[in-house]
Amino acid sequence: MKNNLRLFIAAAVLLSAVSCCGTDKPHTEHVILIGLDGMSGTYFDRSELPTISALMDEGCWTLEKRSVFKTSSAINWASMFMGAGTELTGYTNWGSEVPELPSRVVNEHGIFPTINSELKAQRPESVIGAVYEWNTIHCLIDSVAVDYYEHADETVPTDITDKAISYIKEKKPTLFTIIYDHPDCEGHGDGWDTESYHRELRFLDGEVARILQAVKDAGIWENTTIIVTSDHGGIEKGHGGITPPEYETPFVIAGKGIRRGGEFTESMMQYDVAATIAALFRLQQPQVWVGRPMVQCFDF
Ligand SMILES: [Zn+2]
Repeated sequence: MKNNLRLFIAAAVLLSAVSCCGTDKPHTEHVILIGLDGMSGTYFDRSELPTISALMDEGCWTLEKRSVFKTSSAINWASMFMGAGTELTGYTNWGSEVPELPSRVVNEHGIFPTINSELKAQRPESVIGAVYEWNTIHCLIDSVAVDYYEHADETVPTDITDKAISYIKEKKPTLFTIIYDHPDCEGHGDGWDTESYHRELRFLDGEVARILQAVKDAGIWENTTIIVTSDHGGIEKGHGGITPPEYETPFVIAGKGIRRGGEFTESMMQYDVAATIAALFRLQQPQVWVGRPMVQCFDF
């Protein structure tokens, strides 16, 4: 009887160890986060964006993800990476490089916890990168937590993609953030929903195709989750206000861990992007975050 009891306890310990390791396994091995600054949900025309449209067919999407207010760049990139709104992150201006009001919580790097810092802290083996055309992005990602970050030459339209492709092929990153700036530039120039705005998006759809090909060439396609989204939209030649073309943004997610769910109707906020990525990597979300993972998109 005693021996049976010992055997039972040993089996129970073994089983709990197996289930513990099993549950710790992330739901994806790689996330590529592609941001197109200023891409509005209202003016989104999937018929002119074949690459992004194919991702929509393969995964889940909404055109009604809401930006936090004000509907400006640094505020919303911060929110996307930091899992919380302006009131907690403290980034309140379009070009904030540091928070204007104290971040409610800071990590050991002195910055509000980002998806990059949480991934590095909880899965130190992760390879994390970021490349962007607008230099302020590096102030918002927790650059201390990432292995690579680079400001691409935005006067050369393909430079950021070229840099991204090299990094994907060489490093097979766990989390890689690629932020294009130009839809916003066209919006401020000729206006949102103009021919030049749409021409820019058509060009960037081709650049997204190049990135997806690089993921395939790197041999990690089957284990990668792709996200395409933006910080805010715009109206006429500006943004920052409270109209739907400014605050409604696309969110497209497809690949590893994502079901073919099509359009979802659940509400989504900017800060839910960080929470969704954290859930894919099975990270514990910091208490200060308010983001919700978009569980309706998951196939686990
Ligand atoms: Zn922006």
